[in-house]
Amino acid sequence: KLENATLKAELGRATWKFLHTMAARFPENPTPSDRTALETFIHLFGRLYPCGDCARHFRQLLAEYPPQTSSRNAAAGWLCFAHNLVNERLEKEIFDCNNIGDFYDCGCGEEGKEGAK
Ligand code: FAD
Repeated sequence: KLENATLKAELGRATWKFLHTMAARFPENPTPSDRTALETFIHLFGRLYPCGDCARHFRQLLAEYPPQTSSRNAAAGWLCFAHNLVNERLEKEIFDCNNIGDFYDCGCGEEGKEGAK
């Protein structure tokens, strides 16, 4: 099958949105188990992401810059940095990671805070 840049870009946008939103909801004070979960997720993501070339580049990025998971800020900041490395490679605009604060909101309210639904 021919490569389809439009579909590849669409998948990329949806994926980045998901990843950044997940990082924005990562615990501020993660337990060791939270940290392992995120690190494992990111490595499996690098293995399973359906655009093979993208995944291969991402695995190289992970080898050089391992995911930071010590806090929500660390995780969101690392992911922003990683996305910027991809932006750089694709000659896209660099995102100001200082502005990531409230940019990614899952719309899920306060759920997850001490058992609230
Ligand atoms: P995207 O890069 O998809 O970003 C979407 C939105 O996120 C932007 O509009 C902006 O509002 C925001 N944003 C931008 N930068 C950041 C940042 N640093 N932090 C937080 N938010 C930000 N495509 C390829 O053609 N080749 C590849 O090798 C390739 N590798 C990829 C690897 C991964 C892991 C992923 C998830 C995607 C990859 N893609 C690749 C897709 C590519 O990154 C883009 O998603 C796609 O080209 C669409 O780009 P876009 O300009 O719409 O913005």
